Amino acid sequence: MAALAALALQATAQERELSIYSARHYATDEALYAAFTKATGIAIKRIDADDTAVLARLKSEGAASPADVVLLVDASRLWRAEVDGLFQPVKSATLESRIPATLRGKDSGEGSQWFGFSTRARVIVYNKATVKPADAATYEMLADPVNKGRVCTRSGSHPYNLSLFGAMLEHMGEARTKTWLAGIVANMARAPKGGDTDQIRAVASGECQVALSNSYYFARLMRSTKPEDRAVVEKVAMVFPDQASYGTHVNIAGGAVARHAKNRDAAVKFLEYLASDDAQRHFADGNNEWPVVKGLKIANPALDAMGPFKADTVPVSVIGMNQVKVQRLLDEVGYK
Ligand code: FE
Repeated sequence: MAALAALALQATAQERELSIYSARHYATDEALYAAFTKATGIAIKRIDADDTAVLARLKSEGAASPADVVLLVDASRLWRAEVDGLFQPVKSATLESRIPATLRGKDSGEGSQWFGFSTRARVIVYNKATVKPADAATYEMLADPVNKGRVCTRSGSHPYNLSLFGAMLEHMGEARTKTWLAGIVANMARAPKGGDTDQIRAVASGECQVALSNSYYFARLMRSTKPEDRAVVEKVAMVFPDQASYGTHVNIAGGAVARHAKNRDAAVKFLEYLASDDAQRHFADGNNEWPVVKGLKIANPALDAMGPFKADTVPVSVIGMNQVKVQRLLDEVGYK
């Protein structure tokens, strides 16, 4: 009898605790998790690691994995995890009504396997003193001879770039994408290294003149009060590329219910919470990302200053799917 009672207690404790594997690397998210626990009484046990480590861990743990929710920061990673069978489909009227279909995994009939909760644009930053705006107005211009010796990016194989290149593949086809990638390599000021913020700093210092970055890294510098960040923002301009054609590439941070989730109901509840007005505002305030929920008013001086823009509408699931081809093209043109 005592053993049974203990077992029941244990089950209740488990339902009151949600295990999250997260690749979101933003300190401001703490408030998000705390608010969920406060609203639901469900405690969160979180394991933070980068995308690759999260996926490797899920794979090695298999059915024994304690993970209920998985948070990743790129469409290509979410797609890869779905293909590898690490998620399970979720049917939720809330998620379907709140999140546009282009920002979630393909609905198999049983629901989507993952959902985007915030968006970020892949923008071009350039040195205001040395670059004409027209020379940095499109992704295509990164490969133009006018930018010879002026371009820097992080690794071509980083998910943020794989996804951008996957969108370009959709627009330009394979042959033109390969030529374009080779053109970027030919224009590089230095071999790819560092993260997006490092590229922005390199543009400000003059080591290179044109670079790619996610919008929130630039917004973070815009909102920073540190003198060294102010100095960087002074020297650098940001553009939303390809406004006259298909629009700027937009990627997502998103989440899913783990394949072997022990607390499925709480996991779905958590995903629905991430689509709530409060959580959506948090993504904007905390990490300078745009909400996925349409028509939500946000107050963020950096995002306001960036202004509205035309976003590319290629579904993020298609972009994810293209990454295998993209990686092959990168290898062929020597884009490390
Ligand atoms: Fe990031």
